[in-house]
Amino acid sequence: MALIETGPTKSAPFIIEGIRGIGFDPADISYLIVTHIHLDHGGGAGTLVKEMPEAKVVVHEKGARHMVDPSKLVNSSKRVFGDFIDEWYGEVLPVEQDRIMPVKGGEIIDLGKGQRLQMIDSPGHSDHHICIYSEKEKGLFTGDAAGVYLSDSGGLIPTTPPPEFDPDVNVETIKGFLGLDLKLLLFSHFGVTEKVNQTLNTSIDWLMKWKDSVSGMMSKGLSQEVITEKFRADTREALGSDRGNELLYQWVIEHHIPMCAMGYLNYFKKKDL
Ligand SMILES: [Zn+2]
Repeated sequence: MALIETGPTKSAPFIIEGIRGIGFDPADISYLIVTHIHLDHGGGAGTLVKEMPEAKVVVHEKGARHMVDPSKLVNSSKRVFGDFIDEWYGEVLPVEQDRIMPVKGGEIIDLGKGQRLQMIDSPGHSDHHICIYSEKEKGLFTGDAAGVYLSDSGGLIPTTPPPEFDPDVNVETIKGFLGLDLKLLLFSHFGVTEKVNQTLNTSIDWLMKWKDSVSGMMSKGLSQEVITEKFRADTREALGSDRGNELLYQWVIEHHIPMCAMGYLNYFKKKDL
C-alpha cells in the first residue's frame, strides 16, 4: 500500500485519521511517496513515518538529503515566505537515512493486484519533482508539475515558486504528460479531473503567457508589486465570477499569486547572471 504526499506536519493527524477512516491501518503502508520536498507536500514525512514502521519514503534523489536534514529547506522556505511557515506547517522532523528510497524517474513500484506506480521525472516547478503514473487507473498524480486545480470552480492556475522554477522546463515536462495514456489527473492541490488534455494545455498556456508578460514588464523596469497585481488581475479574470470555495479563492489571491510572481522574477534574475 502506498500513500502519495504527506502534506505538512500539521496535516499528519488528519492523514492518519483519514487512512483509518477508509478502513486501513497506517502500519500497513509500505511506501510514502512525495512528489517533491516543498513543505506542503513532504513536510509531514518525518512525523508520519513514526506511525508507519514499514514505510520507505520515496523522494527524488535531488531532494533526498533535505528529508534527512530539513534545516536548510526550512530556512530557505522562511527566507522566501516568512517566519509564519512554522505556524502554518508545523515543525518539520527529519526522516532517518535508512528509511529513504531515492528515485530519479523510470522506477516502478509494484503494489500487487495489478497496481503499478511509475515514477516520472518532472522538473520545472522544482528540479527535484516526480509525478506518479498509476497504470491501473491511467491516472497521473501531478504534484505541483501541472498547476493548482480548483475543483469547485474547475479553474486552473500555475504554481511557480522560487527558487527553482523554470517555465521552459516546466512546459517541456507537461508536454511529456500529453504523450501518456491518461484518463485522470490527480492534483495535490486540490482535486481530480478527467479533462486531461484541456487542463494540461491550459497549464502550458498560462506558463508561457506569464513568461512573456513578466519579460515585457521587467524590460520596462516595472516592480514586483506591479507584476503581482498583473498576475492577480489575470487570475481573477480567468477564474471569473464562479469563485468556488471562497477561502481557497482568497488564499490564491493573497498568498499563492505573490509567490508565483516571485518565482518568475527569480527565474529571470538567475538567467541574467
Ligand atoms: Zn511545490
